[in-house]
Amino acid sequence: MKKFLAYFIPILLAFAVGALGSYLQGDALKEWYPYLIKSPATPPAIVFPIAWGILYILIGLSAGTMLAKGDMSVLRLWLFQLILNFLWSVCFFALRSPFVGLLVILALDVTVCAYIIYTMGRRPAAAWLFVPYMLWLIFATYLNGFIYINNKKPKERIAMNATYVKFSLPALSYANDALAPTMSKETVEYHYGKHFKTYIDNTNRLIEGTPYEGMGLEEIVKKSDGALFNNAAQALNHRIYFDGLTPVQKVMPKGLSERIVRDFGSVEEFNKKFAETAVGLFGSGWVWLAEDDKGKLAIVPTKDADNPLRHHLNPLMCIDVWEHAYYLDYQNRRADFVKEYMKLVDWDKAAARVKHK
Ligand code: MN
Repeated sequence: MKKFLAYFIPILLAFAVGALGSYLQGDALKEWYPYLIKSPATPPAIVFPIAWGILYILIGLSAGTMLAKGDMSVLRLWLFQLILNFLWSVCFFALRSPFVGLLVILALDVTVCAYIIYTMGRRPAAAWLFVPYMLWLIFATYLNGFIYINNKKPKERIAMNATYVKFSLPALSYANDALAPTMSKETVEYHYGKHFKTYIDNTNRLIEGTPYEGMGLEEIVKKSDGALFNNAAQALNHRIYFDGLTPVQKVMPKGLSERIVRDFGSVEEFNKKFAETAVGLFGSGWVWLAEDDKGKLAIVPTKDADNPLRHHLNPLMCIDVWEHAYYLDYQNRRADFVKEYMKLVDWDKAAARVKHK
């Protein structure tokens, strides 16, 4: 009977800790964990309870093989690893902190390793029963580490301490009327407050419950098509557009102007070609200054919602030549709008978007 209890109690204890841990994972499993970026090696969800069920039995049996012989020396170490095991559930899921979770699981790795070394010298069976646990923990440490590293920049992807955050309308760094008279307050109010906002709202609505949920806007633009592509690309295009405007006319940074001279002959020549392309683009669309993966600059016109990212080019700045961008201020005179628009370009922002130096 005593022998039976020596095995039974540790197994029961391990399962109790596992059950309490699962209970505390609660909402995080539904509202947070599914939206994290995870390693491709992550097994299907069903594997976890099965694996842990088996491991808890082995962990319990390991302690049992010591306790059945009346050897209590390992008890403290065994309980300590169990507490760490529980603490990991609390830190990773309940607190939604992959970082603290990672620290705890590393401590658990060390403790389990110490347990194996210690029991190997006394009862090898107890040590071997812990080996699958150790292997699983190494794998779990990798999965936890992957989540920590890949979900660090939550801005537009995942809020680490909240449920999934949708795309939001980025705040303007200038007042609605600061770009007047080139761009009136009314134009900014409609273009930014209505058109841009609608593209963001539509994108949020269209990604709900799809694999696109949790992806960055640029990734969605690269991978999607149809209505989602149109709205996500317009959301991204307008983000680059409104972020790239300034009420204070700026001098082009030297690095960028040198490259413009290199690729277009002179800044004046670039301005001329850019304006010609913007005026000449038929219908709705955008004209971009973009760079290829070797850093060569090009003026790229795109139709409708299209974005240079779809053509393996990195967008630096753009002009919106959809009629809604200028009709209130310039009616059909697109050429006047394009000419005036060039005064609002924030060249610092364009230079900051350069990736290939
Ligand atoms: Mn627009």
